[in-house]
Amino acid sequence: MDEFSLIEKYFDRPVTRLDVSLGIGDDAALTIVPAGYELVSTVDVLVAGVHFHESADSHSVGHKAVAVNLSDLAAMGATPAWATLGLVIPEVDGLWLERFCAGFFALAKRYEVDLVGGDTAQGPLTVMVQLSGWVPQGTALQRRGAGPGDYIYVTGRLGDAGLALMHINGEIDLPPDQATAVQQALDYPDPRVEMGERLRSLASAAIDISDGLAADLGHLVTRSEVGAEVSLAHLPLSKPYQAHFDEIGWEAALSAGDDYELCFTAAPGHHPEITSIAGQLDVAVTRVGTITADRKIIFVDRDGHGYAPKTAGYAHFRS
Ligand code: ADP
Ligand code: MG
Repeated sequence: MDEFSLIEKYFDRPVTRLDVSLGIGDDAALTIVPAGYELVSTVDVLVAGVHFHESADSHSVGHKAVAVNLSDLAAMGATPAWATLGLVIPEVDGLWLERFCAGFFALAKRYEVDLVGGDTAQGPLTVMVQLSGWVPQGTALQRRGAGPGDYIYVTGRLGDAGLALMHINGEIDLPPDQATAVQQALDYPDPRVEMGERLRSLASAAIDISDGLAADLGHLVTRSEVGAEVSLAHLPLSKPYQAHFDEIGWEAALSAGDDYELCFTAAPGHHPEITSIAGQLDVAVTRVGTITADRKIIFVDRDGHGYAPKTAGYAHFRS
């Protein structure tokens, strides 16, 4: 099968959105951004052996390639709309592509995202998804904007993807039910798209947690030119995490990454509304600390002592 039959067989599907005037099949796609809205664009590259294991089920690779981009749009408060896909594969493996597409299109459909174009090449397995969406002009959430006194929140639970990696690497030993639960967090992150949209009018700043709370909150406070005090006892940890806390400590929650949860800040007056939205969307939202004027992050443990994360968040090229 050559490149063109591959595209036709797996990726050239009818568009469903009215704002797509031209999808796959031409030199580029044409889409319509509604008047009064800004286009929000993001791209993430997933490299086999770096971001996922070569032998990983391609269903989860397809899901995750979309999910990590949806998570970036969520952190901007954007409504997702269109995707393009850069796919580099070593060979045409029908089963791999079938499962990849199943994972990819299931999540895309859930958020009414149309695949409108891409590029396909032969080479080392790499998946690059580019996602676009929109926000009413001037309403996008950004990393800058947090002010002293704002509450700091995180969605979902932190550290489960890190736990899954520790289990795979033999650093901890989880019973099968717990292993399955944390593996789900690693393979099928659930992007907080609706939460991001609802936070447009409430949050002062936001970021998605891909490299660990410590690193990503670090980016937020740097951009906002503020500091933060985080209470470790308030970090939302899953049951498996709590059960193995003595072995893991705070590190997986602070630095393991791959959480794809949102970290955002808001003025205390918005707390009741944020709590109510969390209930409506059935997404855990936990207040973990407060923004300070002093430009550093302080983590306070259960005994009130300062805690310094042992490892920095994930960064490519760091030796
Ligand atoms: P060009 O050479 O002009 O870049 P291609 O031959 O690469 O065009 O692609 C033909 C059409 O198929 C284009 O519309 C392109 O957007 C689309 N396409 C190619 N690869 C993919 C892919 N992996 N997923 C979705 N669309 C793709
Ligand atoms: Mg091309």
